[in-house]
Amino acid sequence: VASDHIIGRFAPSPSGALHFGSLLAALASFLDIRSRGGQWLLRMEDLDPAREPEGAADQILRILEDLALTWDGPVLYQSQRIDAYEAAMVELSERGLTYPCDCSRQRVRAMGGIYDNLCRTRQSPPAGNSATRFKVPAQNYTFDDRIQGHYQQDLIHECGDFVLRRRDGLIAYQLAVVVDDEWQGITDILRGHDLLDSTPRQMALQQALGYQQPDYAHIPVATNQSGQKLSKQHFARPLQRDSATDYLYQALTFLHQQPPLGLRNAPPSELVAWAITNWDIQHVPKLATIPVNSSYS
Ligand code: GLU
Repeated sequence: VASDHIIGRFAPSPSGALHFGSLLAALASFLDIRSRGGQWLLRMEDLDPAREPEGAADQILRILEDLALTWDGPVLYQSQRIDAYEAAMVELSERGLTYPCDCSRQRVRAMGGIYDNLCRTRQSPPAGNSATRFKVPAQNYTFDDRIQGHYQQDLIHECGDFVLRRRDGLIAYQLAVVVDDEWQGITDILRGHDLLDSTPRQMALQQALGYQQPDYAHIPVATNQSGQKLSKQHFARPLQRDSATDYLYQALTFLHQQPPLGLRNAPPSELVAWAITNWDIQHVPKLATIPVNSSYS
């Protein structure tokens, strides 16, 4: 692939301030793309207003600027893309690949989260509001992750038919991400290990919609000392705007890029320039999680 055709993205959900865990995904994706001269795009995954505090999206942009992680072009907001998702829903439904489902969350949870496709074969449609599910093909999905190596999943048995549009009308992450990755021409996806097992679902949708399949890389996820993924639910520390260099330095260390001690107090742009030149994806540990100390978690 010619370098001007390499396109990556960072796709945060503005459910709160950026924390060290989201910085890792942003930085690694940025370096992986910039080191090959590609374009790096920013996409705000703002499809769930009830979970998005006022101002969180803008705050994310300011922090990325402080970290010298500059993106190309305008920011894409998923909240502006509902028509595109609905068009994809129509396409899938016209091909007979979707069906309404009114099974409760409790029912699905009781099956270990693996849906048994009960509503696939029901005779009459549900009376009230229902979710829309995608009929997953009975096939094994495999791909070679650039960090984690070979991965495979049998969607029917390990996941089941999954939701594209929730009962309350919200478009699900799995559909939106696939439609936008195609629309933005994304060739290379690098994100946290927690999304590794979403990849086969996304591949199934890409195939059903006739889209290109990007290359994938999944970095280890940062956890606190109790092994919980850094997240808003676990009160991950928000990044402070005046500590950009320290975060970048620690993130490069986490990713085993061995930043030189001499850049310990360098301006963010200098550290980032060093990291672009020296980025080596082979050094990223092939692990699901890595604990970080309490000043970052
Ligand atoms: N918005 C998702 C998140 O913040 C990431 C989506 C992706 O990288 O595919 O977890």
